[in-house]
Amino acid sequence: MSQKAPTLCCPICQSPLPLGPDGKTLTDATKKLLPFCSARCQLVDLSNWLGERYTVPGESTDSPAPEQPEA
Ligand SMILES: [Zn+2]
Repeated sequence: MSQKAPTLCCPICQSPLPLGPDGKTLTDATKKLLPFCSARCQLVDLSNWLGERYTVPGESTDSPAPEQPEA
């Protein structure tokens, strides 16, 4: 039986995840970042969905003036 290691690709940059010295298993550093290839791509994904979450569809025509209590 030949065991074929699944090729994992980063969902952000689509590049194959870096493998350890044996060429089959992911390094511990990579495992921590799964399924991303690098901390950078992890950040990109995070900001992607944070951006979606915080983006309010539509335009706000009037901006509510923040109340500033004056002493
Ligand atoms: Zn990547």
